[in-house]
Amino acid sequence: MFQINRQHFKFSLFLGILGLIANLYPIPLFGNVQLILGNSAFVIVAILLGPWYALLTALVCSIGLFISWSSPHVFLIFSLEAIWLGFARRKDIYSLYADIGYWLLLGMPLFVLYASIFSELPESHLSFITLKQGINGLICAAVGSLAVTVISELWQLKDKVKDKKRRSFNAQLTYSFSLVLTISLLGSALIFNHQVIIKQQESLKRNLHDSVTHLGLATEVFLETHTRAIDNASRWLSLSGAEKISGWQSKLVKLHQSYPGFATMLVTNADARIIAASPLSALGVNKVLNKEISVEDRHYFQEAFFNQITYTSPAFLGRGFGADPIVAISAPFYRSNEPDKPTGIIEGSLDLTTFAQIEQANEVYQDQSMILVDEAGRVIYASDKLGLAPLSEFMWAESGKDYKTSLSMLNLRDIENPNPEFVYDSYALDNQWKLYVVKPFSPLLKLLESQYLTTFAVLILSIIITVLVTRVLSIRLTQPLSVIANKFAEHGHSKAADYHINEESPIEFLNLYQSIKKSKQELISYQLELEEKVAIRTFELEKANAKLQILVEKDELTSLYNRRYAEAKFRSTQDFCQRSDEVMAVGILDIDNFKSINDTYGHQGGDECLRVLSREMKKYFKRDTDVIARYGGEEFLLILPFCNVLMIEAHLNEFKDKVQGLVIINPNDKRPISMTVSIGALVNNARYSTELDVWFKQADINLYQAKNQGRDKVIISMPKPSDKKVTV
Ligand code: GH3
Ligand code: MG
Ligand code: MG
Repeated sequence: MFQINRQHFKFSLFLGILGLIANLYPIPLFGNVQLILGNSAFVIVAILLGPWYALLTALVCSIGLFISWSSPHVFLIFSLEAIWLGFARRKDIYSLYADIGYWLLLGMPLFVLYASIFSELPESHLSFITLKQGINGLICAAVGSLAVTVISELWQLKDKVKDKKRRSFNAQLTYSFSLVLTISLLGSALIFNHQVIIKQQESLKRNLHDSVTHLGLATEVFLETHTRAIDNASRWLSLSGAEKISGWQSKLVKLHQSYPGFATMLVTNADARIIAASPLSALGVNKVLNKEISVEDRHYFQEAFFNQITYTSPAFLGRGFGADPIVAISAPFYRSNEPDKPTGIIEGSLDLTTFAQIEQANEVYQDQSMILVDEAGRVIYASDKLGLAPLSEFMWAESGKDYKTSLSMLNLRDIENPNPEFVYDSYALDNQWKLYVVKPFSPLLKLLESQYLTTFAVLILSIIITVLVTRVLSIRLTQPLSVIANKFAEHGHSKAADYHINEESPIEFLNLYQSIKKSKQELISYQLELEEKVAIRTFELEKANAKLQILVEKDELTSLYNRRYAEAKFRSTQDFCQRSDEVMAVGILDIDNFKSINDTYGHQGGDECLRVLSREMKKYFKRDTDVIARYGGEEFLLILPFCNVLMIEAHLNEFKDKVQGLVIINPNDKRPISMTVSIGALVNNARYSTELDVWFKQADINLYQAKNQGRDKVIISMPKPSDKKVTV
């Protein structure tokens, strides 16, 4: 279930508003084409927070575009782009690559579909604008991605979308290069194209102006020449005796030969009847001779005859000579004696195809067309390719008013459409005619389109080269690293020699390799040193432990086992004897009047007695199984397993006597010391008791008796023969 994170929601909305504001101020490129950067906002959100927050940002950004462009398609195209990028991000696909895919597969086809159904964009505009949308999309994707890479605050956004897999250094390097490349290449291409297009517009404008001026002047010269010809002819007719009508026909034909710009020429009398014509055959010889044709109703007659001016007519449909559209130039002539009363007119009909010759003289600009319009707004002449019939009303409208360009533009065919068909310049002739030179607008767009296409192709090529170059670069970086990693992962030294750092690897890696190598050697020697120290310490510790063990079990003064050891040893000894059903003896040996020995010879003398006695005991009770322990002070415990009941008393007595015979030298004053001991003992089958206390108690009683009986005595309890427990 999708849960809204308040922080993410606020962040997306905030970026959306930033994008909206940026989109309100698009950067004009050419005509109605603009660069927008606000959409980078939803690219950032798509990368950080995934598709749904990106959709929110895209919708807000699109409001800005909707206000600028007033076209609802922005909501569809850019929302889809945002969702696309968001899902691509979740699949670990880099945004720029995903965006290229989006525009190729969905964005541009959708835009074409939308535009061809809902907009009035001409075909020529459509492909260019579609291409521009794609390029603009890529720029936004690159700017957004770069912003995420560069602005470190964005990385730290909590719970943002994370890469599923760790990316390789190669991929990261390639992508960073691609981003920078895209922005720099497309950015510079746009700026460069913009400059070029401005220059082109300027030169086009100049060309149009040159053409229209040239054509206008040529037309004026043509008109002026022919007007002057009629004017001169009328004067010449007035002077040469207009009454000789018979001579006029041949003179007119000669005049006409000098001015082939006239399609036909005629002379009328004062009754407006044609009395001479050239070419005569076109009108009919008899009709002229019989003065059958009247031009009374024609403007050129009325203006010339009644107003007595040299007159140039607007275009009108000819009659008599054929039914072609014509422009007539007429002038009155007079009898020499009646200079104020015309006797007729002379008229020449301009051959309108002559304008085609004038136009052809302007052949430098093949792709330009001209339109000559009379003062009544009728077409006198228009280039064939425009398809405007002479005499038709010149229908046109200014267009492309929203276009950012210094060119003047008009439409001839689809007059309502705001998208321009032609760029033009016009020239007003002296006689109120107007000349237009037009040039189709679409080649301009085609040029831009091919520039964009080239840029796009260069971009794709550059990205391919980037992929190849960065791969080489990253191998140069990562290979030595893995060599180093492998080398130092080796436990032994033997294989290390097999690795080497490639000569093309950067110096930093060699340094790293050498310093790690040195560190490793230092580490190994330190480790050896440490191992040696540990071995020494362990040895010392073992020694100390052994000492401690002795301290725990033995008495320091006499080196005999202590009471604790004796008690523990009793249990195992008794157990062993019991299982073998054997006899054992427990005795307590106590030095007689030891207090007085201490008093007499000093404490050191007493200690010496204890040492000597102990040594003797060890010597005397020499079986491995015998346990002799210092039980406390001058009292010793004897545990003698497997003893002979019959011999034991004698054995103990023998030792007692041996002690009496000892001569001990006082270490202080070298005085001889002698001493006696008393022994209380008990001999019995081991089953007698498992408790030392029980054995000890009886032995102690016997010792007490020995002391009481005068000391230097052995008293031992024996089992009575009737005691069944004892087997001897
Ligand atoms: P008895 O014949 O009744 O055993 O008389 P005694 O004097 O030997 O016995 P008593 O218990 O009255 O005195 C024991 C003395 O042994 C007291 C003490 O100062 C001395 N003694 C105990 N341990 C040591 C020792 O390690 N070194 C020395 N020099 N004297 C000790
Ligand atoms: Mg004692
Ligand atoms: Mg004593």
